[in-house]
Amino acid sequence: MNSRRDELAASLARVDEQIAQACADAGRARTDVTLIAVTKTYPASDVDLLAELGVTDVGENRHPEAERKRAATTAALRWHFVGSVQTNKAGAIARYADVVHSVDRPKVVNSLARGAVTAERQLDCLIQIDFDQRDPGRAGVAPDGVDELADHIAAADHLRLAGVMTVAPLGVDPAEVFAELQEISTRLSHSHPEATMISAGMTEDFAAAIRYGATHLRIGRAILGNREPLK
Ligand SMILES: *Cc1c(COP(=O)(O)O)cnc(C)c1O
Repeated sequence: MNSRRDELAASLARVDEQIAQACADAGRARTDVTLIAVTKTYPASDVDLLAELGVTDVGENRHPEAERKRAATTAALRWHFVGSVQTNKAGAIARYADVVHSVDRPKVVNSLARGAVTAERQLDCLIQIDFDQRDPGRAGVAPDGVDELADHIAAADHLRLAGVMTVAPLGVDPAEVFAELQEISTRLSHSHPEATMISAGMTEDFAAAIRYGATHLRIGRAILGNREPLK
């Protein structure tokens, strides 16, 4: 019988090999790319197993699930909050997240900053950019709003502007989206040299993200298995 540990070890090895291959194809060093295992909906015991298997970074998209899981795991990991931040939850998220990938409006910046000051923590923030202007409900700031939001984050107490993030819209070639993200990142690094992270690439499209400079991949299903549909 296969244990959960064996299962995770096998899928992690497969994904690691695909990342290494995509890095080689793109002429990039494997060490330039960090894998974030997105553990949402999976138990804290999986997080502990992944840490034993060498994973250093995990991602969660919901509060308070993320908070509970962090409290329940003993491993020293870097915690990435990748889901949309409700302003009334921002204070709590600032207490346990190391990096927030989904900063997309000034109100979120202000609430995270208040939370980080109170918690006496330094929070790395990524600007989530939305390249799909067809659906106004999608998370993320439009490309032309990035500079203003970047200045706002950089000026906020206890927040550090760490880079940019996107989720490729459905029905669009992810390579085109990631190419645009990389251009924005390059432009942003002129005014904010500390903003070096490019968070892009999920189970279906991480090879394309690696081609276009992704530094952080957010991979869930390829490692943990398919999630139950959300109710
Ligand atoms: C769930 C999620 C992921 C991981 O997606 P998979 O398709 O499971 O790899 C990445 N980024 C965000 C923002 C997510 O919500």
